[in-house]
This record gives sequence, structure tokens and C-alpha cells, in this order.
Amino acid sequence: MNIGFIGLGNMGAPMAANLAAAGHSVTGFDLTAPCPAGVTPADSAAAAASGAEVVITMLPNGEILEAVAGEIIPAMAPGAVLCDCSTVDVENARRVAAEAEAAGLLALDAPVSGGVGGAAAGTLTFMVGGSEAAFAKVAPLFDVMGQKAVHCGDAGAGQSAKICNNMILGVTMIATCEAFALADKLGLDRQKMFDVVSTSSGQSWTMNTYCPAPGVGPESPADHDYRPGFAAELMLKDLRLAQSAAEMVDADTPMGLAAAKLYETFVEEEGGKGWDFSAMLPRFERRNRT
Ligand code: NAD
Repeated sequence: MNIGFIGLGNMGAPMAANLAAAGHSVTGFDLTAPCPAGVTPADSAAAAASGAEVVITMLPNGEILEAVAGEIIPAMAPGAVLCDCSTVDVENARRVAAEAEAAGLLALDAPVSGGVGGAAAGTLTFMVGGSEAAFAKVAPLFDVMGQKAVHCGDAGAGQSAKICNNMILGVTMIATCEAFALADKLGLDRQKMFDVVSTSSGQSWTMNTYCPAPGVGPESPADHDYRPGFAAELMLKDLRLAQSAAEMVDADTPMGLAAAKLYETFVEEEGGKGWDFSAMLPRFERRNRT
């Protein structure tokens, strides 16, 4: 397939490289990052998009996505698919899809989970919103870049699934970390805490798979001095997107709001930027009730 790939950063570069390695013809564009091996560089986003059957975007945020969409939609061939894999606001995703469809294109919002490691290994999970026809056309590419693609519904459904998942993740990580800090102060051994909770009703992905306590449970960023992994500022981004979506549809999300505020304080006032989102545990360790 002829593929245009725009945004070749930490995630986009390995995704584009995997598509090229699988035999697709990939033309790439990024404002600053170089093209990975096998990807042909273009001079502009529009040049990367023209003649492509599928254009994939992997950009930092919704504002940039909308600007890039404005450049590439006029350059794309009728019937081509604009597939955005960035994490953006549900509203951004729906606006871009409407613009693309008005121009005779197909559109998908297809954010990912799995991080940089999943992008490199081709084991991402795609959560996808858009038409059946668009999903069917891009499905073989999802198979190359990932291990699973779930078609969640119409435009915006992929972003909706992503922010709901990550809202649960942020809230659960905080709950796991504060429980460890409480257990410490109660004199409970961390390994015993893990042995009980990971096999009891308090179990979760954050406890069982990504345990925030160093030396306990499977290997995780906590065992590497909290180097990310999934950085606290990226969790904050997703929690803010969840709050923006909750405001849009008037949904009551008190735990999501509390998690957004805690990560905001952690990232912006307490030096949490650049650390894994599980570094909430040492934060709680240092604190007391007031
Ligand atoms: P990144 O900052 O490494 O890459 C983004 C790239 O977009 C950069 O190379 C930048 O130069 C490029 N760019 C910016 N504006 C551009 C423009 N106008 N035209 C062309 N290129 C432009 O970010 P990333 O870590 O690759 O993340 C990309 C997206 O994936 C984000 O939306 C992020 O939330 C999401 N995401 C990231 C992770 C992760 O672990 N890094 C996990 C899941 C989802």
C-alpha cells in the first residue's frame, strides 16, 4: 500500500519503520525528526499525503492535528483514508473526521496503547472510531503495527475508549500508591501487601503488572528508578482530555477530576515531569495527612 506518515517522533518513527519493513511504500514527514530506515522523506505534510491510499498521523496534540489535517486533506486522493493515531480530544477527532468526509475521504481516529516499546515491537493496541469501510481498509496496517485493533464505533469512539481506559489507569495508580504508603506507615511489609492485594479484590493492572513498589511484583519502571515507561506528564495529558470530554457531555467524574488535579500538582509543582507515572508512590511516601 502507498502510505503517508506524518509525525515521526518517539511513537511514529517505529510505527512507520514497521510498515516499511512489512513491504509497504511509506513516505514520511516531520518538522524536526528524521525519517527512519525504509521511509522516503517528503518536503511537506501535503507532499507525504498526496497519492497515498492511507495517511497516518502521529502528532503531539489536537491543535497540531487540526492544523496538519487542514494541509493534507486537500492533497489527498478521493477515497483515501486519514487515520489519526495521536491521542487528542474527542471533539478534535470528530471535527477532523467531518472535514475529511466532507472532502470525499474516509477517516479514522485510532489512538494506541502500548507505548514506545509496543510501537517498536509492533504490539500496540488500536482503539478505533470511524466507518466499517475505513476500518476494513486500514486493518492490515493495524496488524503490522499492533497485536489488536478494536473497532469501537463511529468517529470519536477510539478517543473515547482511550481516555476512559486511561482515566481508570490514573485513578487506579493513585489508589495503589496511596495504599502502599498507608501500608508502610502501618508497618506492613511491601511484599506481603503485594501477595495479598494481587490475589484479592484490590488487584489491578497497576498492582499486578506495573507494581509501583521497587523490588515487588514483575519488573516495572519502579525497578529502574522510576524512569518511564509512561511519563507522568503524558498521564496528565490524558486525564485532562478525559475531563474535557466529561465537561462536553456533562458526565460526573469526581475520581477522574481528583486524579487530574493530583497529577497536575505532581508534574507542575513537585518535579514529577520526566518521571514514570508510578513515581506517585515516593511522592506519597514523603507526605503526611496535612
Ligand atoms: P513525540 O513528541 O515524540 O512525536 C511527535 C512528532 O510530531 C515530533 O517528532 C514532532 O516534530 C512532530 N510534529 C509536530 N508538529 C508537526 C507538524 N506540524 N508536522 C509534522 N510533524 C509534526 O510524541 P510521541 O511520544 O511520538 O506521541 C505521539 C502521540 O502519541 C501523542 O498524541 C501521544 O499522546 C500519543 N501516545 C504516546 C505514547 C508514548 O508512550 N509516547 C503512548 C500512547 C500514545
